[in-house]
Amino acid sequence: MTAAFASLPLSAAMLANLDALGYTEMTPIQAQSLPLMLKGQDLIAQAKTGSGKTAAFGIALLAPLNPRFFGCQALVLCPTRELADQVAKEIRRLARAADNIKVLTLCGGVPFGPQIGSLEHGAHVIVGTPGRVQEHLRKGTLTLDGLNTLVLDEADRMLDMGFYDSIADIIGQTPARRQTLLFSATYPAGIEQLAATFMKAPQRVQVEALHDDGQIEQRFYEIDPRQRLDAVLRLLLHFRPQSSVAFCHTRQQCQELVEHLQARKISALALHGDLEQRDRDQVLAMFANRSCSVLVATDVAARGLDIAGLEAVINVELARDPEVHIHRIGRSGRAGEKGLALSLVAPAEASRAQAIENLQKAPLNWHELDSLKPKSDEPLLPPMTTLCIAAGRKDKLRPGDILGALTGEAGIPGAQVGKIALFDFQAYVAVDRSVARQALKRLSEGKIKGRSMKVRVL
Ligand code: ADP
Ligand code: MG
Repeated sequence: MTAAFASLPLSAAMLANLDALGYTEMTPIQAQSLPLMLKGQDLIAQAKTGSGKTAAFGIALLAPLNPRFFGCQALVLCPTRELADQVAKEIRRLARAADNIKVLTLCGGVPFGPQIGSLEHGAHVIVGTPGRVQEHLRKGTLTLDGLNTLVLDEADRMLDMGFYDSIADIIGQTPARRQTLLFSATYPAGIEQLAATFMKAPQRVQVEALHDDGQIEQRFYEIDPRQRLDAVLRLLLHFRPQSSVAFCHTRQQCQELVEHLQARKISALALHGDLEQRDRDQVLAMFANRSCSVLVATDVAARGLDIAGLEAVINVELARDPEVHIHRIGRSGRAGEKGLALSLVAPAEASRAQAIENLQKAPLNWHELDSLKPKSDEPLLPPMTTLCIAAGRKDKLRPGDILGALTGEAGIPGAQVGKIALFDFQAYVAVDRSVARQALKRLSEGKIKGRSMKVRVL
């Protein structure tokens, strides 16, 4: 089924903008949810990562906005700062057709002062994490009296993170006539409670959680739990994926696996809830720019992040909830290419495997661990190396400055420079592994924007 955005009651400017963004037709979750949301109904929408949920609620919350009223008319609550940043970015893209719509993010981990300043200037749309939004409400620097639309994005994850009470507190300070939209990848029991308490006759739409069989090849391996870490190593050396995520249950399991892999010269980094924001930024930048092969993550830390198109997903331990399993493996497979999902199953996890089989309505594809032979003895090295520069946005550093410093005057060919990620106080640039030394030398001996800056290889 294909559906054109033009079938919806949207402004001509919005339709033209969607076209310019290359959104030629609605994704299935958009086609199901937008007609209901644009009528003003409350809605619970469930669909996997990458299905276009952000644009769905983004379009819906922008439609009734009054640009001349500078109070907060739409609030999107997200579990983490990264997600809030991603959502704000998408809403800004969607809003660029309309007059001057201000989209502001309010997240923890950054100073209050500038946020208060921005709030005083007025913002039509606020995207934030529950804790920080709550604090602004408590301080009186934010009021939600004029709110039309409340969106709970990644609601399942916000519940996992223990945000129920914060969300309830925030909702208590919004007008009763608001529209409430809830988006989630899975549907745990807590969602029912949120809906029953805070939503008015919500409609529920769900896009088939299962991937079509041809798209992801799943293989299951029975293991002795004591061989778990070695089994991951065998999978990696056999399939040699250039980028993969290995899902673990706990921070400790992540740490152990990372150490195990690093000891065998496989570039692996851990992503879990206890990392400082700055370390998280660094891990994600290194994974995205292909200087880390294996991201070892907990579900909570990885969920909702824009990590998709992986060559392989490894379930170090099976997920307790089969929907979480489906969600994990959905991250594998680049556009048009087949993904690979490898699951390790200890005997104690047999019931989890059964639940997955029931949900898939197809038998699991079991393989023997002994059938895995390393394809080569070469270590599994990523194609890129990351250099960290101790300066960032706040130093008025721009990607072009870094690129210029690397490539200028018979320097490194531009093709050997990869992603550049800028943060407030640091920047990460990926370069081809083969020119890492040369790049470090150029950056640390030369000048960037006329200044010497501290640079190190990560
Ligand atoms: P989700 O929140 O469901 O995980 P996102 O909202 O992050 O998914 O969307 C995934 C990607 O799909 C984004 O890069 C977005 O720009 C793109 N996208 C969204 N809607 C459309 C559309 N109608 N046509 C083409 N691409 C789209
Ligand atoms: Mg999303």
